Amino acid sequence: MTFRASRFFAFACVFLAACSTSPLGRSQLILVGDGQMNQMGLQSFDQLKHDTPVETNPAINAYVQCIAGPIAKIGGARAGVEKWEIVVFKSNEVNAFALPGGKIGVYTGILPVTKTAAQLAAVLGHEVGHVIAKHGAERVSEGLVAQGLTTAAGIGFKDKAYQPLILAGLGVGAQYGILLPHSRTQESEADLIGVDLMAEAGFDPRQSVELWKNMSAASGGKAPPEWMSTHPANDTRIAGLQGAIPAALPKYEAALKAGRAPNCPRPAGI
Ligand SMILES: [Zn+2]
Repeated sequence: MTFRASRFFAFACVFLAACSTSPLGRSQLILVGDGQMNQMGLQSFDQLKHDTPVETNPAINAYVQCIAGPIAKIGGARAGVEKWEIVVFKSNEVNAFALPGGKIGVYTGILPVTKTAAQLAAVLGHEVGHVIAKHGAERVSEGLVAQGLTTAAGIGFKDKAYQPLILAGLGVGAQYGILLPHSRTQESEADLIGVDLMAEAGFDPRQSVELWKNMSAASGGKAPPEWMSTHPANDTRIAGLQGAIPAALPKYEAALKAGRAPNCPRPAGI
């Protein structure tokens, strides 16, 4: 946080009641209400569906739904979202996202890199973790403060001036050339929430670490995959995930005992 933003943060907490707390106990500056964020999520999703072809292969759709469904169900209870729309986009981008308001997008390009169902569950758990922790609202709020605004009143997706800020804040700007990496703090929050979600949904949490090894390999010395550009890997990240696994394993075992063991056959050719 910049000096200016931190001074504003203190001001906002006192005068605007714009202070919130993340699920892991961190103070957040949030100027944008849940209803407004849900609206932004929905409109961004509509835009993406308009601009990107949707995958129609039934086996691929069934596979993604089989993995995303349980993650969305467990995560939705924490995010206050009952119904999720899950769309598979036909694109070579190695990417996936979740948006406020209950939207999940998976690009077919991430399927070969996530070598097991549990690895895709790790990606989606992480993305839904960002939604639960209201990171989109936090990022859009920070963007507004950077523009000298102290209120989100009247800010919406329909106003083209704010579209880049909203797309970047929600982490779905890549296809429009707006790449905004998440802060390390937000990343580790989403990692910890994500490992919990995947374990509770019945996916082996240890696969989250394997996912990062595959992501690194997928870059193959060239430009890193889209998802990795906005989710930089580092030793701290892997160590954080490994540290979270002992607490997540009993939740995974409890899920299996309770019959939550998604069996998602991997389609041929992905
Ligand atoms: Zn992230």
